[in-house]
Amino acid sequence: MTTPEGTEFDVVVIGGGPGGYATALYGASAGLQIAVVEKDKVGGTCLHRGCVPAKEFLETASVVRTVSSAKEFGVHAAQPSVDFAVSQGRKQKVVDQLHRGLAGLMKGRGITTFIGVGTLLGGGRVHVEAPEGSQEISGRHVVLASGSVPRTIPGFEVDGRFVLTSDEVLALDSLPASVAVIGGGAIGCEFASMLSDLGTQVTVLEVLPTLLPGCDKDVVAVVARSFRKRGIAVHTGVSVHGHTPNGSGTTVSFGEGESISVDAVVVSVGRRPLTDGLLADHTGVTVTERGFVQVDPYMRTTADDVWAVGDLVDTPQLAHVGFAEGMLTVKDILGEPAVPVDYARVPWCIYCHPEVAFAGLTEAAAREAGYDVVVKQDPFAGNSRARILGETDGLVKVVAERRPDGSAGRILGVHMVGPWVTEQLGQGYMAVNWEATPEEISQFVQPHPSLSEAFGETVLAMTGRGLHVG
Ligand SMILES: Cc1cc2nc3c(=O)[nH]c(=O)nc-3n(C[C@H](O)[C@H](O)[C@H](O)COP(=O)(O)OP(=O)(O)OC[C@H]3O[C@@H](n4cnc5c(N)ncnc54)[C@H](O)[C@@H]3O)c2cc1C
Repeated sequence: MTTPEGTEFDVVVIGGGPGGYATALYGASAGLQIAVVEKDKVGGTCLHRGCVPAKEFLETASVVRTVSSAKEFGVHAAQPSVDFAVSQGRKQKVVDQLHRGLAGLMKGRGITTFIGVGTLLGGGRVHVEAPEGSQEISGRHVVLASGSVPRTIPGFEVDGRFVLTSDEVLALDSLPASVAVIGGGAIGCEFASMLSDLGTQVTVLEVLPTLLPGCDKDVVAVVARSFRKRGIAVHTGVSVHGHTPNGSGTTVSFGEGESISVDAVVVSVGRRPLTDGLLADHTGVTVTERGFVQVDPYMRTTADDVWAVGDLVDTPQLAHVGFAEGMLTVKDILGEPAVPVDYARVPWCIYCHPEVAFAGLTEAAAREAGYDVVVKQDPFAGNSRARILGETDGLVKVVAERRPDGSAGRILGVHMVGPWVTEQLGQGYMAVNWEATPEEISQFVQPHPSLSEAFGETVLAMTGRGLHVG
């Protein structure tokens, strides 16, 4: 795409992932003239190499589990086997459909998309380098949204054969018989769960003392128990030292002289912000020691009229955080009153089996922050819908601030693990962010039989008068 000489956009966005396209769509809805510079495909990591493909494969895993347990329901089906090339094809179809939809939506909103590598030159000017030639475009405001790429670790050079990151795993056409997943965080646990359900022998190696660092300990215990039951080996508190290819696979050394031979290693140790080629000299944008673009609570960088959003800045690396930051940026550009994102209360969803979802403080974090707390839990084992589904592993846990009279006050955190909790977090998220009390929330009627009753029951119990939970 070329534009007439001298065209000045209201906003030029570099990067078309969730942070960038949310900025563009929200800005265009507000009547701004927007350009997006994207070096690959709009949708970014989330659509092409992250959230969407990972969840699509986790759904394949769920289908395998459903078919495997069909006989319990009196439904006779052959033991499932997986043709992963077909699964890969379905995933790609879903991604392609969403990509076409997003590109069409952006075009329909009058957003001009430039395919090429964008470099901020300063003074609102952006250089776009594309195979068919380069050009310079300018905007009254520039938003940096170039996202992130997988981190790697020394001794584990990514080769696409023995050592894979999420990028390579999500592009596989066939599955390795065994893997070591390095990193037991959200993405590591999603891959471990998905690969195990699809028939791969999985070992997780995590340097910290538990899986899913940052999640509530009672939630982590449920995931760890489920992984153990399903034959996923988990080693926590271990460092990995390197690997030695041994023909068809590789041997990973870890811990105190331990090793494991696997077909492939999945490195899942987080993502680094991507500033390569993004900034020319003297733009005034500050990059921190850890490689993030420095911003204030309104996403303003240290350069005039330049904002930054998404994985490029040091905030939770979540697509929906990028959406929120993009919308905040547009409001700030328009000079409208804007409320900074409250990062301590954003929703977190992890789609391993069993799923995890939470918002707000864990019990430990609340105590550490000095709160005296009231805590209640309701296990899904007592929930009728969970019994109907045959998915009873899990619980809902609510953490509230203790009032001087001992009763439960403001809800500080809601933590869920179990069936479809990623779709149930909404009420908990609202409760935490509205600083609601158990009395207020327990006025709401939950449908029966439903999984969401577990949240209702837990909060009701916090008023001192539970039905099923004491
Ligand atoms: C396996 C996996 C699963 C995930 N699951 C979830 C999930 O379930 N939920 C969730 O919320 N988050 C999830 N994430 C995280 C989520 O994908 C990221 O937080 C999100 O994509 C960040 O959005 P972004 O716009 O900041 O960056 P990105 O999505 O990385 O997009 C940046 C875009 O900028 C482009 N770009 C980079 N540099 C330039 C340049 N100089 N010029 C032009 N274009 C450039 C890139 O090509 C890319 O398209 C997952 C990530 C992974 C890897």
